[in-house]
Amino acid sequence: QIRASNHLRVLRASYTSFAHSVPPLNDRTLLKSQTYVNGKWIDARSGMTFEVTDPASGKVIGTMPEMDKTDVDAAIKAAADALPAFRKTTGRERAKMLRKWYQLMVDNADDLAKLITWENGKPLADAKGEVSYAANFFEWFSEEAPRVYGDTIPASVPGNRVFTIKEPVGVCGLITPWNFPAAMITRKIGPALAAGCTVVAKSPGETPFTAAALAELAHRAGIPPGVVNIVTSLNNTAEVGEAITSSPIVKKVSFTGSTRVGKLLMKQSSDTLKKLSFELGGNAPFIVFDDADLDTAVAGAIASKFRSSGQTCVCANRIYVQQGIYDQFAKAFTEKVNNFKVGSGYAEGITHGPLIHDRAVSKVQSHVDDAVKHGGKVLIGGHKLPDFGPNFFEPTIIRDMTNDMAIAHEETFGPVAGLFSFKDEAEIVKLANDTEVGLAGYFFSKDIQRCYRIAEALEVGMVGVNTGLISDPAAPFGGVKESGFGREGSKYGIDEYMTTKMVTLGGM
Ligand code: NAD
Repeated sequence: QIRASNHLRVLRASYTSFAHSVPPLNDRTLLKSQTYVNGKWIDARSGMTFEVTDPASGKVIGTMPEMDKTDVDAAIKAAADALPAFRKTTGRERAKMLRKWYQLMVDNADDLAKLITWENGKPLADAKGEVSYAANFFEWFSEEAPRVYGDTIPASVPGNRVFTIKEPVGVCGLITPWNFPAAMITRKIGPALAAGCTVVAKSPGETPFTAAALAELAHRAGIPPGVVNIVTSLNNTAEVGEAITSSPIVKKVSFTGSTRVGKLLMKQSSDTLKKLSFELGGNAPFIVFDDADLDTAVAGAIASKFRSSGQTCVCANRIYVQQGIYDQFAKAFTEKVNNFKVGSGYAEGITHGPLIHDRAVSKVQSHVDDAVKHGGKVLIGGHKLPDFGPNFFEPTIIRDMTNDMAIAHEETFGPVAGLFSFKDEAEIVKLANDTEVGLAGYFFSKDIQRCYRIAEALEVGMVGVNTGLISDPAAPFGGVKESGFGREGSKYGIDEYMTTKMVTLGGM
């Protein structure tokens, strides 16, 4: 039996209903039902469409073209045809295009945020934050585009001169998930275009409208036809993925999503030996040492665990609190979660929206049930919220977690915080690293030596020390182990879309 505290009533009382209709956009032309290939708005050749659902109400809110291999091949051809001219543009010319696209995102930020909330469900304030974060990738890579340098290398052979040139890798296939409908796309398209590549981006089946709006802004920014092509699919995703990964024209695939699909795409890409970057699943440890500042640690846990209702790849999945501060942390953390307002992302003051679909809700419920079965105690939440809509789940905290529970080993990808306790540094490093994946890790401590020690000991690609928020276009984002490889954002992000050509000039 799941026992929830009386805080539950507060959560229920916070719900505000919303009449789901077309979002009230300032510019209605940003809402599309076609997709953008070779500079034109098109349907699938088959005429098929798929339905897009509002996760808050479960109602169908529109349709998009259900594309297949022939559509993908046409988009790849458009990208290949556009490549020779685009790769010859200068870095400064590409910077101006990206900058213009960035500015159009800023100018249309309210509408883009409304679209994100509409199809993803996240609260409008979070959606606005995402638009700003997403646009910043275009700004950042507009600044990187003119600053791609090769090397002049002192040769080992007398009379030779050696230098390197950085060249765009070519046509890129980009596949992104629904949890950040704008940012996951701009984080890939920004560096690809900055490098001089052309792209075929498969937008997430659950959230295709934001991607289409971004394409409309690309068009207005004067990005040449064929440079940015968006293919759409929900039910044919496997076929679309295979068309991209098996195409000999596509030279690079960048994928963000689950480790399971990443492994499949890697296998599919092996026949044509593509350059790959994979941002895959995580299972982030979030560690609070006895000497941490309690308020900072609680604020960090709220941000890291519950942002986007726990549907972020870097979100804290296992919260480890040292024994001396465990009860205090559990109490303060629960008090904060008690203040959440769950409901439709459009409603005033809502802090947490629905999950993306019923499969996500079922997974969250199964993790809660499993934890309770093995002795976990629910401090707050623990249930679905069917009165709110089909995909709502209460923000949940469970204490007395143990290593035999599913949450210890699997990514929940939902609003459930499991609190584990630990004794000392040696134990926690072992526990934190006891997973096949390694995306993000967090810890809280005021001891500077410990901060270095633990940052170095964690087997992850990104570490947050005394903060729960680490995403920044200026910082390299990516994982180790089965969380994938490659880095997005930062000065490293553009390298993923370039090759290094070496030139040796003899007979000097
Ligand atoms: P998913 O792997 O099922 O789907 C991700 C995207 O891949 C989807 O939008 C879909 O369009 C596409 N896809 C699915 N099957 C495909 C196939 N056979 N061929 C080609 N494309 C295919 O993951 P999900 O459940 O939708 O998203 C959540 C996962 O993504 C989590 O594991 C999360 O950690 C991960 N994620 C990682 C990052 C990161 O940067 N590391 C960011 C966000 C999400």
